[in-house]
Amino acid sequence: MSVLDINKIRRDFPILDEKVNGRDLVYFDNAATTQKPVKVLEALSNYYGHYNANIHRGIHYLAEKATTAFEDSRTTIQKFMNAAHKEEIIFTYGTTDGINLVAQTYGRKFLKEGDEIIISTLEHHSNIVPWQMLCEEKGCILKVIPIDDNGDLILEEFDNLLTEKTKFVSVVHVSNALGTINPIKYIIDKAHAIGAKVLIDGAQASSHITIDVQELDTDFYVFSAHKLFGPTGMGVLYGKSDILNAMPPYRGGGEMIKEVSFEKTTYNELPYKFEAGTPNIADVVAVKYAIDYINELGKENIAAYEDVLLKYATEKLTEIEGLRIVGQAKQKVSVVSFVIDSVHPQDIGVILDQQGIAVRTGHHCTQPLMKRLGIPGTSRASFAVYNTTEEIDKLIMGIHKVKKMVL
Ligand code: PLP
Repeated sequence: MSVLDINKIRRDFPILDEKVNGRDLVYFDNAATTQKPVKVLEALSNYYGHYNANIHRGIHYLAEKATTAFEDSRTTIQKFMNAAHKEEIIFTYGTTDGINLVAQTYGRKFLKEGDEIIISTLEHHSNIVPWQMLCEEKGCILKVIPIDDNGDLILEEFDNLLTEKTKFVSVVHVSNALGTINPIKYIIDKAHAIGAKVLIDGAQASSHITIDVQELDTDFYVFSAHKLFGPTGMGVLYGKSDILNAMPPYRGGGEMIKEVSFEKTTYNELPYKFEAGTPNIADVVAVKYAIDYINELGKENIAAYEDVLLKYATEKLTEIEGLRIVGQAKQKVSVVSFVIDSVHPQDIGVILDQQGIAVRTGHHCTQPLMKRLGIPGTSRASFAVYNTTEEIDKLIMGIHKVKKMVL
């Protein structure tokens, strides 16, 4: 079934031994956040227990050790995304932070009244609101690529939206609500052809899909560490160095400066220009171990196994009467959103939780998408490499129980 030893992988994630409401935990909320392997947990406690120090500024042993580990993570991420230069990797607090950084620096400097920004119906609120805030401030216009009923972007409509007024395109690589994988290479090439810059929200893609920013030729790519087995509160903004160099800094403070005087301050070079203040050192250090873990398993192996889980779950869920899978895109990651006739998603979540099964219910921070689909929300099971078909069987039994209790 898979070249991966799933039982061994499960042992790497101590939380999977937890009992929830007296049952073995079945964790199907991976699109919200993934669990952390022992190596990541050890990296965090090793840093705090053995070489906790502030980085870049000290000359003592601990400071140098912490700085080396911190910068090693940057190199690991550079390779992970195939960025041309290490300084193109900016550490942020997450996907949301990365998008806000670009909107507030690139957007404020380079976009002006009447310029158009294109996003899509599939966006997470994180890739809507920062652009709306920018539009309010600068008088730019937000345009939205529509989707079809399967949850695929309508590309002809995207083509029609592109005009000489389009200055920025910001789209999600993989939809967190439906699992749709967007044809981002097509989008990037089309946007570039009319001179617009592109940001890709890779929050959901980074643990499932190989990212090659040079091949994609994207201007910006953002993701969060916690969605790929790393810590919360840490993320990455990739940007092409010439664009990042042309952007003003985001936050002011220590680390992002070269020289400060009351008359005039000069800014540090990349990547530090965008990393004001003491960062999440431990979390940055630990993310390297999460990426090493993914690399050891092999992203293609992970994706192939997750696809088995997706197909199995889709088949079994489809057999349940009154259940409808929302989002049947041509290409999907291992996310299944569903609704059940006459049952509120919240009730599904609560009853499954009583059986130790964690799914997410609601609008998944995609209220405009839910509005387009004509539903208040869905129940969403999202799978990671440590999940099994046996766990999916438990979900199916759990849903039958929901139906019995509610209908
Ligand atoms: N974009 C997508 C597609 C997401 O799934 C998420 C998180 O669920 C985000 C953005 C925001 O990520 P974060 O909360 O880590 O900043």
